[in-house]
Amino acid sequence: MTTEPSSHPDTLSPDTVVVATGRPARVHDAAVNPPIVLSSTYVGTGQVVDGDRAYGRYSNPTWDPLEQALSELEGAELPGLVFSSGLAAVSAALSIIPVGGVLVMPRHSYQGALVMAQELAAKGLFSLRTVDIANNDEVIGALTGSGEKAADMLWLESPTNPMLEVADLHVLCRSAQAVGAVVVTDNTFCTPLVQKPLDLGSDVVLHSVTKYLAGHSDVILGALVTSNPELRAQLLHHRSIHGAIAGPFEAWLALRGLRTLALRVERAQASAMDLAQRLETHDGVDKVLFPGLDSDPGHDRAKAQMLGFGSVLCIEVAGGEETATALVEALRLWTPATSLGGVESLIERRRRHANEPDTVPANLLRLSVGIENVEDLWNDLAQALEAVAAQR
Ligand SMILES: *Cc1c(COP(=O)(O)O)cnc(C)c1O
Repeated sequence: MTTEPSSHPDTLSPDTVVVATGRPARVHDAAVNPPIVLSSTYVGTGQVVDGDRAYGRYSNPTWDPLEQALSELEGAELPGLVFSSGLAAVSAALSIIPVGGVLVMPRHSYQGALVMAQELAAKGLFSLRTVDIANNDEVIGALTGSGEKAADMLWLESPTNPMLEVADLHVLCRSAQAVGAVVVTDNTFCTPLVQKPLDLGSDVVLHSVTKYLAGHSDVILGALVTSNPELRAQLLHHRSIHGAIAGPFEAWLALRGLRTLALRVERAQASAMDLAQRLETHDGVDKVLFPGLDSDPGHDRAKAQMLGFGSVLCIEVAGGEETATALVEALRLWTPATSLGGVESLIERRRRHANEPDTVPANLLRLSVGIENVEDLWNDLAQALEAVAAQR
């Protein structure tokens, strides 16, 4: 490696790490930001050895500062690995399961991850046990196999998308460890500023960098972070051989977005809590799903294992599916679009996707709260709720 991104003592707070990590070495007249390196290959004549860049599918200097920052934020002992998308990272993580093995996964996992697991299972690569991830007994039963084969991998996502169920990460990681299952936690919704799965016993952390980490809805990128050298070697091998690598420009944009992560998360979380409380008492809303609310079944768990409650919330709109669709159409500031974690607030009726499980209510809207003024966000929701109430 020719360039060594700067790193920092463990004493820095995460909101400083996002700003300070991954800067070029401080020499006179050096650039403050890392450069974008556009090269598909690297000069070399002798034997290629471990750590050589060699070729652009194995490594790129533009990835390094981002991989370093993600590792520091998650509290890992090894650099992270960036991938071309969150789902490319999912694909690499699922490749760890031995052929004929068993995967335990939340039934409300991110839709793409669930579809991928179902398709791989249908091909006979492994068997899939989907569970209510908030129910410890059910998950532990699926892990031990209750007489059948024990699990090889536990997939965790907490809070889940879009039902926002909260998994008991500490207990489930210990239970997985007891049967020798590798734990992968999709930490996209929380970001490492809100939840640190490696500290809670997970082996691997997964991110759709597309969402909060990059934060501006202009990048598709994924990442895996682990402190386990064997697992990291397998994941790196998968990336190099299957080829789902990050473009240098995307990696650079993601690091640029990461610089403001702490500010964005702080603002969005505060607004999400505020909006959840207001929506909870509104006549046009049957139910609010948000672990920050005292009334939410996941509230106590979330309080114990998270440093906040995130900034995605869901509402079940009174009047059903048609009213929910009309509500989305009546909004002016909120953008109707899939995805989440950007600076701009997005709203979506999840069941508009054919693949969405039918256990997700048809009148459920998922709100990704951005960083706009919270009164403007509320006023827009309030006027739209009123408009659809008048039509009913
Ligand atoms: C978006 C998302 C993914 C997939 O990431 P892409 O970058 O879209 O491939 C995985 N998990 C969660 C929780 C997500 O929200």
